[in-house]
Amino acid sequence: MNCLLCNARIAVRLTLRDLVTLQPLEQATLCDRCRAAFTPIDPEHACPGCGRPQKDPHLCCECQKWQQQYGWHLRHQALYTYNDAMKEYMHRYKFAGDWRLRHVFCDELQQRIRQIKADLVVPIPVTATTMATRGFNQVQGLLGDLAVVPVLQHRAADKVAQSQKTRRQRLQTSQPFLLRDPAAVCGRRVLLADDIYTTGRTLYHAAVLLKKARCREVVSVSLAR
Ligand SMILES: [Zn+2]
Ligand SMILES: [Zn+2]
Repeated sequence: MNCLLCNARIAVRLTLRDLVTLQPLEQATLCDRCRAAFTPIDPEHACPGCGRPQKDPHLCCECQKWQQQYGWHLRHQALYTYNDAMKEYMHRYKFAGDWRLRHVFCDELQQRIRQIKADLVVPIPVTATTMATRGFNQVQGLLGDLAVVPVLQHRAADKVAQSQKTRRQRLQTSQPFLLRDPAAVCGRRVLLADDIYTTGRTLYHAAVLLKKARCREVVSVSLAR
């Protein structure tokens, strides 16, 4: 097996358990050097609203603004900081369209989502334009074979992708989503999954629709923050 990022050969380390159980080996997707370039976020030292890494677990300034605007705030967790290695990874996965790279963080993301224990997992959708050019929804790819309920849908083709917008433009975006099946979320604890938490705007738009449909609670997870 070679590292999906630098193509270096990954040595297989057999444990006694592997030998005894004869289970299929868990394949490493990255070499140690590439893996070390990513910085995990400790949820104990992060903003409880947006998952931003910080010393104390208090609500950061940005989340206090969301709280003022909506009267509630998200409870978001992110697995990694959006550092240079993560930017490069996202670039190769999303924009260069290297579909194999969905495997890199799949296990960790699934594990975190299972820990959070939601009734259903809703991935943030991509626009029809992105789907046509990229050929896949990167969030669904990251979630692997996890069961998801894709009840959110983009209203219409958004001419400009979120990634092309400035921070100000992102924050001013109007509701881009439709909730296809409000009954599916009513009374349930819903987990929204996204690839990157940037301003929070996208997740708040999604959460507003879920709350209107009277879901019991909304939590969210992204790979990066
Ligand atoms: Zn590597
Ligand atoms: Zn925050």
